[in-house]
Amino acid sequence: MRILLVEDDKLLGDGIRAGLMLASYAVDWVRDGEMALRALTDHSYDACILDIGLPKMDGISVLRELRQHNNRTPVIVLTARDTKTDKIIGLDSGADHYLTKPFDLGELEAHIRAVVRRAGDVAQPLLVHRGVTLDPASKLAGVDGKPVSLSGREYALLLDFMSHPDHLRSRAQLEESLYAWGEEVESNALEVYIHHLRKKLGSDFIQTVRGLGYRLRSDGK
Ligand code: CA
Repeated sequence: MRILLVEDDKLLGDGIRAGLMLASYAVDWVRDGEMALRALTDHSYDACILDIGLPKMDGISVLRELRQHNNRTPVIVLTARDTKTDKIIGLDSGADHYLTKPFDLGELEAHIRAVVRRAGDVAQPLLVHRGVTLDPASKLAGVDGKPVSLSGREYALLLDFMSHPDHLRSRAQLEESLYAWGEEVESNALEVYIHHLRKKLGSDFIQTVRGLGYRLRSDGK
């Protein structure tokens, strides 16, 4: 699960990012509105946590621009302002949730789960491939109807594969779904997670395409 955090306050941003990473989210953190818009345009996120008071471009303008371009990324607006007018402007601009500072990290996580679940109801049906199921709303996987438990990163990797069931996925593409920017990527980490997934889902469920990457085994083979 990949989250974009947009917050110019260093202390607060640090705290939110650390807390969300502990909860096994991959977090990209930008500190101004222009960077936020660029990140949201160039990458796909499961949710965005967006401060309103930002350098270069305020959060409400970011949100308006985003929705005008039909980007439906779930957005939780974060702000110190708690007047009614600001809330109404925020929600009218296309925010999915509104959180007033100071807030509890547990509360923020609950909001993230809620907006992702709601987006999942519309955009993410149950993914099915060769007897393996993955439900992005609940993060639960199954093999032939039996539940399989996955770690956060195993889930992120399987979600990437099952969202592109017929495509070869390069190492770089898979690593992007595992790690946030700037996070150290251990050289054999991808192999380790794929090894774990094969043990849980069947040894030939994910096939290695030598020199190119990995793909799910297709139905015909
Ligand atoms: Ca701010």
